[in-house]
Amino acid sequence: MRISTIKILCCPVCHGRLTLSVTETTVLEDGEEDIVGGTLTCTACRVDYPVREGIPEMIPPGAACSEDK
Ligand SMILES: [Zn+2]
Repeated sequence: MRISTIKILCCPVCHGRLTLSVTETTVLEDGEEDIVGGTLTCTACRVDYPVREGIPEMIPPGAACSEDK
């Protein structure tokens, strides 16, 4: 996930800004840094959204298991 993509992401709960903590990056062919692993944190909600394999998991707390079966 590109740095430029992260800049347009916001918290799915409060739509506030997210703080990024990067643990793993790679550099793309065009020279832009790509986030492979890390955490996006909403300081307003105090919720962490993990980034795994370059994919941000933007699931609001409590929504993960809300589907009816
Ligand atoms: Zn939030």
